[in-house]
Amino acid sequence: MIRITELRLPLNHAEPALRAAIVARLGLARDTDLAAFSVFKRAYDARKKTAILLIYTVDCTLAEGLDEAATLARFAADPHVKVSPDTGYHFLGHAPVDFGSGDGRLRPLVIGFGPCGLFAALILAQMGLRPIVLERGKVVRERTQDTWGLWRRQQLEPESNVQFGEGGAGTFSDGKLWSQISDPRHLTRKVLTEFVKAGAPDEILYVSKPHIGTFRLVSMIEKMRAEIEALGGEIRFRQRVTDLQVETAADGARQVRGVTLESGEQIRADHVVLALGHSARDTFTMLHGRGVAMEAKPFSVGFRIEHPQGVIDRARFGPNAGHPILGAADYKLVHHAGNGRSVYSFCMCPGGTVVAATSEPLRVVTNGMSQYSRNERNANAGIVVGINPQDYRQDGRSDGPVSPLDGMAFQRHWESRAYELGGGGYIAPGQLVGDFIANPRKGRRGQDFGDVMPSYKPGVNLTDLSEPGRESLPTYVLDAIREALPAFERQIHGFSMHDAVLTGVETRTSSPLRINRGRDHQSLNTRGLYPAGEGAGYAGGIMSAGVDGIEVAESVARSILGLATLP
Ligand code: FAD
Repeated sequence: MIRITELRLPLNHAEPALRAAIVARLGLARDTDLAAFSVFKRAYDARKKTAILLIYTVDCTLAEGLDEAATLARFAADPHVKVSPDTGYHFLGHAPVDFGSGDGRLRPLVIGFGPCGLFAALILAQMGLRPIVLERGKVVRERTQDTWGLWRRQQLEPESNVQFGEGGAGTFSDGKLWSQISDPRHLTRKVLTEFVKAGAPDEILYVSKPHIGTFRLVSMIEKMRAEIEALGGEIRFRQRVTDLQVETAADGARQVRGVTLESGEQIRADHVVLALGHSARDTFTMLHGRGVAMEAKPFSVGFRIEHPQGVIDRARFGPNAGHPILGAADYKLVHHAGNGRSVYSFCMCPGGTVVAATSEPLRVVTNGMSQYSRNERNANAGIVVGINPQDYRQDGRSDGPVSPLDGMAFQRHWESRAYELGGGGYIAPGQLVGDFIANPRKGRRGQDFGDVMPSYKPGVNLTDLSEPGRESLPTYVLDAIREALPAFERQIHGFSMHDAVLTGVETRTSSPLRINRGRDHQSLNTRGLYPAGEGAGYAGGIMSAGVDGIEVAESVARSILGLATLP
């Protein structure tokens, strides 16, 4: 097959125009010389709002008798006409059929059933390695009720919420499925293909920024769980891992031998995948106590911002706002502030809602989600500022190593402050953008929202996010955001509108620590332990967590099946 990239057509092109463009691009004599084609990717270029272009990547098959190699040779110097790559997934190997069933060989454990654990378990199951998954939260339907319990009844269930439970942190999300990771093996395709098999719309395979939305994710996760079980895997819910057994092997290396559950049960294993997510603070503390190699890492904190979706659509698409192919507009913004900090938009959710995302009592954390339709009134995104370990060290010194757990303490501090500023009951503190920018004028209080009604439930308490002595975040963060909002206005007209709402705090943008691993994906100092996904510091988002899960599962399989390790 021949792949053509960068095939540009007007937004409103007629359907046959694409075929005609391919025939012309390949210089084919007749329309019938093109036997078939499929769209591999469709993106858009909206830099010129009145003349938005669709950009296609297509795979083409020539009619019988035509020499594909000769056609490709004519385009040898053209980077946009090449042979189609093999994007299929190829298993490294398969276990014997009786693997782990009384033959003395230990089954691999996967801790956590978010996107990383899910794909690790799926690949292991598909290779016949019958993984056992241990997930602290509940099955997704029960978890949904608990999560809504916080939003509607102000009751937090610490083991079953936006962060914990079947499907992991991305279950109540926008379900954005793109990532900027380098992907030479096309593993993102494997993730998308499995999602489609589980019920995601086919279009996620070809649109450039696919998303699924919350409701579909729930039933897809159930189907993927069923596949893992059908292949001999086992998934155990409400099974919080509280300890790790580590032995010193004959060669002096530390080797993992199993885990302990909250119930006291011990499970033996020589291969343990840690797919914990970024909110497993108790587990991070336990691992640190057990001497597992880890280090503090940078992350970001800030607020969620909400605008009317129409403002974003008009700013991005002009007269084409509302076009069905374009859907609700998103944005990606960066500003380098005068105080040296970078401010950027994070996890933008078009036509969505801001959600309460804490997993700990008496703390407030924001995040965003949407449905597949993305048709809620408001657009929301995190507006966050990068911070590094030197900013959050807890011991007051200005040099020397930072404890890997210091970032967690920092997050907790500001999440508790947000709870206080919200006035209790998981109500979040917020401020109108106009009032925030006009600082030091005191923010208005009370129910005086303007054109934007914030969507966060159980509610937003208007306050002064920068009140001296009761700041909602460190002053360097507040100052950087205050400077960035008018700068963003220059890119998106309406961005710093007075009535846009800031709601806080957004503290769980990524893991505050990294559980260090080597090229074979094993912990640097504990053999058999495979830190993976977002919590270990190796992914940021559903797609990259899924891909990391696949790669880690492959490393586990290499070890169990005695295959050559990565060069
Ligand atoms: P997680 O999904 O966090 O899963 C970790 C799992 O481990 C959890 O289920 C947890 O219960 C379990 N666990 C933790 N400790 C233990 C233990 N001791 N014992 C047993 N189980 C344990 N990303 C996107 O790409 N697109 C989006 O649109 C998007 N929207 C988001 C919206 C929200 C509201 C949130 C919170 C996140 C969103 N994200 C989004 C981020 C995305 O969800 C994460 O990057 C992704 O889920 C990380 O996957 P993971 O498997 O590494 O960890």
